[in-house]
Amino acid sequence: MLKREVSIRGSEEFSDIRLKEPMKTAAGMLGVKVALQHSFKEMGVARSIRALSEMNQEDGFDCPSCAWPNPEKGSKVAEYCENGAKALADEATTKYINGAFFQKHSVEELSRLSDYQLNQFGRITEPLMLKSDSVHYEPITWQAAYTLIADQLHQLKNPNEAIFYTSGRSSNEAAYLYGLFARAFGTNNMPDCSNMCHESSGVALSETLGIGKGSIKLEDLYEAEVVLVVGQNPGTNHPRMLSALEKCKRNGGKVISINPLEETGLVNFKNPQKASGLFGKGADIADLHLPVRINQDIPLIKLLLKKLASLDATEGNVFDHEFIEQYVDGYAELIKDLATYDEQDLLRKCGIDTDNITAAVRLLHNASKIVVCWAMGLTQHKNGVENIKEYVNLLLLKGAIGKPNAGTCPVRGHSNVQGDRSVGIMHHVNHDFNARIKTHLGFTPPDEEGLDTVGAMKAMYEGDAKIFICLGGNFLMAASDTEYTARGIQNCDLTVQVSTKLNRTHLVTGKTALILPTFGRSEKDMKDGNIRYLTMEDSMGRVRRSKGLLRPISNNIKSEPELIAELADTYFKGNHPVDWKSMSQNYELIRRSIDKVVKGFENTKERSKGVGYYLPNNVRELDFSMLPNGKAQLSLNQLPDHKLKNDEFMLMTIRSHDQFNTTIYGLDDRYRGVYNERRVLFMNASDMQEMKLAKFDVVHLHSSYDGVKRTANMFKVIPYRIPSRNLAAYFPETNVLVPYNHFADKSRTPISKSIKITLEKE
Ligand code: SF4
Repeated sequence: MLKREVSIRGSEEFSDIRLKEPMKTAAGMLGVKVALQHSFKEMGVARSIRALSEMNQEDGFDCPSCAWPNPEKGSKVAEYCENGAKALADEATTKYINGAFFQKHSVEELSRLSDYQLNQFGRITEPLMLKSDSVHYEPITWQAAYTLIADQLHQLKNPNEAIFYTSGRSSNEAAYLYGLFARAFGTNNMPDCSNMCHESSGVALSETLGIGKGSIKLEDLYEAEVVLVVGQNPGTNHPRMLSALEKCKRNGGKVISINPLEETGLVNFKNPQKASGLFGKGADIADLHLPVRINQDIPLIKLLLKKLASLDATEGNVFDHEFIEQYVDGYAELIKDLATYDEQDLLRKCGIDTDNITAAVRLLHNASKIVVCWAMGLTQHKNGVENIKEYVNLLLLKGAIGKPNAGTCPVRGHSNVQGDRSVGIMHHVNHDFNARIKTHLGFTPPDEEGLDTVGAMKAMYEGDAKIFICLGGNFLMAASDTEYTARGIQNCDLTVQVSTKLNRTHLVTGKTALILPTFGRSEKDMKDGNIRYLTMEDSMGRVRRSKGLLRPISNNIKSEPELIAELADTYFKGNHPVDWKSMSQNYELIRRSIDKVVKGFENTKERSKGVGYYLPNNVRELDFSMLPNGKAQLSLNQLPDHKLKNDEFMLMTIRSHDQFNTTIYGLDDRYRGVYNERRVLFMNASDMQEMKLAKFDVVHLHSSYDGVKRTANMFKVIPYRIPSRNLAAYFPETNVLVPYNHFADKSRTPISKSIKITLEKE
């Protein structure tokens, strides 16, 4: 076997950095301009106008970026944001690469480019194979690719030597078939991207409220009295959320932002769907910004709860005692536990000044319609599960659950990450689900727990897994501990990527590698003269249709459901109770199968309409019968322990504005005032002074866990408003610092938002 000299990190060279003041307002005319520039450059004018006019529309296609929902009453014209337009342009680009490109460029050569440069090459237009003795991909037929995978799967000693990873880009239909195939093959090794992001939300919400999803609907935000936006940057990651917050503000609601960084979208928003947004001065969003220290939310919330509890003791109605009596378990224990904490200690730990604490208490005091929205700023810590439970405590004490304009809102970053899980992508065994598969599909799924993302990385690294199949994504760059992950992937005999565009996981591969090119969301999926549609589930549990309209980039790419079903059919050689062949042709058969096997999907009539339907949600019904004592659970959560040595800092990884997950659209982060560079370290000015660092000084970042030193090379320091001893830098560049074996308790989500590091000046 040839040892390929591929670069795991790509180019670490600096570009020509420019800095400006962070912007004070998000979106507006500039957002529209950037969106259109991006679209026209990638897709041309006519294709852009066609595609943009159908995105997030009733009979159109779902935005391929985040999972923010569309309004229940149907979408307005231009129901998308700048970053949705960028995601579309990125996927529907007319640039493409094929076998001839890879004949010219080896994987070794390509791997030395940056992730941004790799993404620039455009769509992959034919199936490709990297043979074990080659450094060049070459074309392969679809059937030869299926046969190769099927043969290798047959050769495994144990089905658990294969891993079936899923990214949140897939549709319900593709994810369901993929999960069926993995189970029919004999494994529950189904890690998915939510293991790396919202798994902590799923665990915390299941344990406290009985469902691992949020409870609010989009419209609930409009008339909430207080919305807490925690550890989240909606201006970049879910921009249409700002329109909902704007509506909430207009109706008299208040917004509290809790985040070590003050993000532009929460300062002021110019709604591009309104003339006043395009030409006026915009709407201020956050009434209060609490710059909490990294992962010090629990001290902050405990402090607020203590203060509210003491007001409740005198006034008697600050907490909703009727609600607590009827629906909530653990009240007396929680109040007793709160009394054990010292307010000054909590204040010091969270780093918020007294005036701001008083202001937050004032906003929460009489409110009962409260929504908490959050993202990775809460989940990616060792105590990620407890972080969320602490916010649930606040909601339960205020009776802000299971009623209009109140509840939980974990904001999902990838458009169908929630749907994938709903239709069966899970590494845990669900006996009920398996029983229904047996009844309706006639085979018995395995009942041994599978591997999550961390487990998959370890299995590959230790040689226990031999085949790694990825339905979408860029696993190498999304996972923690990049070097470790790369070694694991390289240990595999075969790696398979179902992809639209080139990324580093195509270059750092198993001995043999395949790329199976697939449709983008916006492309027309035709069969027998009819356009086929797919379904997705948004962040708020609504399933809706998605139908592409653009001519596919090539005649030699396949839809995900079709290629999965064809692979399964090749593997089983037509000898299996599931009729894979028919499903590959007719997605309605897949949906009918989902209806039977997955609870809540039976709403066939509603499905035929574009606006979609909600899946069951026990919190909305105030049904906690599945929890101890049949009640929602308050919880006692420990204060996080983050002792830093004198030379240590706490680093959180963040996204730039020109980025979606691991896809890098550009090198700017204009809201934070950084242009043409990603290798930057956001640092408090007083810390810089203490460390004798000047703006643009170059440092190396080191983490040291369990005696293993990990390094991210070459970052330019820039002064920024961030709490002292806290730092921020972009992922995936800093994923190398996150040890694979340090993750959240219970959810095993990597600790990407609280990494202890030291700095070394170049
Ligand atoms: S908010 Fe999210 S789903 Fe909506 S258009 Fe923007 S990126 Fe797409």
